[in-house]
Amino acid sequence: MRFDIVTVFPEFFSSLDLSLVGKARERGLIAVQTHDLRDWTTDVHRTVDDSPFGGGAGMVMKPDVWAEAIDDVVGAAHGETPGTNEVPARTVLAIPTPSGAPLTQGDCWDLAEADHVIIACGRYEGIDARVADYYRGSGMEVFEYSLGDYVLNGGEVAAIALVEAVARLVPGMVGNPESLREESHGEHGLLEYPVYTRPTTFRGHDVPAVLTSGDHGKVARWRRDRALERTDARRPDMLAALTPDQLDKKDRAKLAELGWVVGEDGPLAVVVDEAQPAEAEAVSQLAGRLFPHACPPDMKPEDVADFVAKNLSERDFAQYIADPNHLVLVARVDGQIAGYSLAIIPEAGQVHEGAPAAALADGADEPLLVYLSKMYIEPQWRGKGLFDILIRDTLEAITAAVDAPEIFVWLGTNIGNKRAIRAYKRAGFEIVGEREFFVGEQVNKDLTLAIRANMPQ
Ligand code: SAM
Repeated sequence: MRFDIVTVFPEFFSSLDLSLVGKARERGLIAVQTHDLRDWTTDVHRTVDDSPFGGGAGMVMKPDVWAEAIDDVVGAAHGETPGTNEVPARTVLAIPTPSGAPLTQGDCWDLAEADHVIIACGRYEGIDARVADYYRGSGMEVFEYSLGDYVLNGGEVAAIALVEAVARLVPGMVGNPESLREESHGEHGLLEYPVYTRPTTFRGHDVPAVLTSGDHGKVARWRRDRALERTDARRPDMLAALTPDQLDKKDRAKLAELGWVVGEDGPLAVVVDEAQPAEAEAVSQLAGRLFPHACPPDMKPEDVADFVAKNLSERDFAQYIADPNHLVLVARVDGQIAGYSLAIIPEAGQVHEGAPAAALADGADEPLLVYLSKMYIEPQWRGKGLFDILIRDTLEAITAAVDAPEIFVWLGTNIGNKRAIRAYKRAGFEIVGEREFFVGEQVNKDLTLAIRANMPQ
């Protein structure tokens, strides 16, 4: 593979004699030639720039000088590449520019398969746009790329970055090519986990114990979790680009912990916040639709409908949302409401009917018992971690909204609703008692469950 770099500062590129790139050049895996653009000028001042048409600040690099240089570099390289008559060599004209698409590892894998990469390093305000247009029009592959959303003085640093990033992917460059696929931006689409070496304790910071445990399975899981956490914190766009087949059950549990659910096309970030007054209708519709899901099958449909009309209407939700003692949270997936919770915070001394106070009071002070009246998830999001996200955020929101030394959150759920009971237990709730819950005439037997929402102070 051959790189030709055309620049007005050939001195810049002595760093490419060093390290892996330098060794690869010595071993003949890659060839790198630098050329001084001014060698193709024809005037005594060796001019490569001129003032911009249309006015404005700065100078623009002349297309005629650039074209002479590129034509010669292409000609020289092809003359030297044996067999190019039968198999046309893949030549790419790479033009670094802050207005290009950001360079990715995927681009580098692709370029590593080219035979010849010419890098045209701009200076001043850049290269006359007709250079890229002309070579693209004449059938050459033109690749305009940016190093990132900032402006450098010239394309030289971007050229060195491209040579380094592409050359290490050329077969034979790195001892174990598999290791390349496991890195940040590799096939798994994540940032790499943090890495450590000796000493085990450095200025009071210990190496995570799991890494010295010798348990390869645990190390792999730990690394995967850290990679997911890091990618969530630094590059959520990369998590959103994963596909479901890249994620196992443990990945999905970790993602739920980080506030993501995995849909049909891949992970989607969940946003949980307080319902807005304008959302009363949408939440009421969702509530009305989902309430029957939590009712036992023998319940009369007219009783269910009556309960919904009396407790879950748009007017009811408008009141709940406006009332500081009601906390209505909605979980949004992809901007759509996918679940909600409704918590009722009692006034001091008030105890909600059915509250399992006796079971919870273990000290002199009665704990504050917040009633989690509703907690519903759209069927399509059940079993995908959304429940865990919403319950966690609901407990956090309750703790933030209430100032009490001991806050317990309790709820009642039908004794036959095994799925809900399992989910609450998974979230840390414990069964504390039973209650009767009336829907119309019908008495339902509920289990009551509770959890301590705030840490002991
Ligand atoms: N006027 C140009 C603009 O606003 O897009 C900036 C020109 S810059 C001062 C001069 C040269 O530096 C560019 O032609 C390009 O070769 C290089 N350059 C600057 N920032 C870059 C970046 N983020 N990525 C790649 N090349 C860059």
